Amino acid sequence: MNLTIRLPHCGGPDVLRAEDAAIPVPAAGEVLLRHTAIGVNFIDTYYRSGLYPLPLPSGLGSEAAAVVEALGDGVSHLQVGDRVAYAGGAQGAYSQWRTLPAALLVKLPDDIGDESAACVMLQGMTVEYLIRRTYAVQPGQTVLWHAAAGGVGQIAVQWLSSLGVKVIGTAGSDAKAALARALGCAHVINYREEDVVARVRELTGDRGVPVVYDSVGKDTFDISLDCLAPRGMFVSFGNASGAVPPFAPLLLSQKGSLYFTRPRLGDYVATRAELEASAAALFERIGAGAVKVQPSARYALADAAQAHADLEARRTTGSLILLP
Ligand code: NDP
Repeated sequence: MNLTIRLPHCGGPDVLRAEDAAIPVPAAGEVLLRHTAIGVNFIDTYYRSGLYPLPLPSGLGSEAAAVVEALGDGVSHLQVGDRVAYAGGAQGAYSQWRTLPAALLVKLPDDIGDESAACVMLQGMTVEYLIRRTYAVQPGQTVLWHAAAGGVGQIAVQWLSSLGVKVIGTAGSDAKAALARALGCAHVINYREEDVVARVRELTGDRGVPVVYDSVGKDTFDISLDCLAPRGMFVSFGNASGAVPPFAPLLLSQKGSLYFTRPRLGDYVATRAELEASAAALFERIGAGAVKVQPSARYALADAAQAHADLEARRTTGSLILLP
């Protein structure tokens, strides 16, 4: 039995199909994985909806914790029985069993449980590269982080506040704002009700912030631009409300010689050394107790469509997992 979620064509959550697939055999350089917990990420909804094109039919999902059950030829750094996790590779994490290139796998430290690993590999390594390599945030700086109560947001707030960074978060309800504040945000703005630009200007003595992390996309683009200090960095890393439409570079000049970047995780963990360094930095913050992550909701693998519906309707906070 290998319960697997398949995407036959793009559409709403109801296009997802549960099938019983064969348990695959690892090719050279690959391992066979038995998943123990599977991460649900907003990017999975982009592939499902068609915002990010994918050859179809396809599997779905790109993050999980697992046990190594068999080795293909030439795999030397892993053994049968190892606890591992990954974020990346071909779509297909929404399954009980799968094969994957061994080079994509990271061994899990004993102090990180499988459910936590399935929450943090993709979202946590994303925070690592965003705050250390896309823009190297310094202690004492103030940053603006949209959707601070979400999966990526909660990890970012904890990590940044542990470094002495002042985080201004945004959130879509008072309950989410309270959650983000409890995790370490200095200020949280309910962007469904408050004027974000006016509030950020007030909180920064009218200067604005040196960096904005914006994963909401279309709905917050203008707001983020107006919250930046001169020569500030606009980090646009997601499209939860829809993709940012094209804009003229002159706009960045008019708003104060701004920088704009649209990064993605794959380009920051492109080599084995980068992957290991990113995971190690994340595991260090977890081991130090600075970043704590437990799933805020667990779904049976067969109920992946419900997890997508909840995520897209903004009903969730924190990280979601599927249990195989
Ligand atoms: P989240 O848990 O953050 O869920 C998305 C949140 O976005 C919602 O909970 C909601 O919070 C907010 N939001 C605002 N407007 C909308 C809208 N119209 N529809 C839906 N949600 C909206 O998801 P993840 O933690 O999985 O991902 C966060 C973002 O980071 C995503 O955009 C994702 O694509 C991006 N990402 C990018 C990566 C990269 O390398 N570029 C890697 C990983 C993630 P609220 O109600 O508080 O507004």
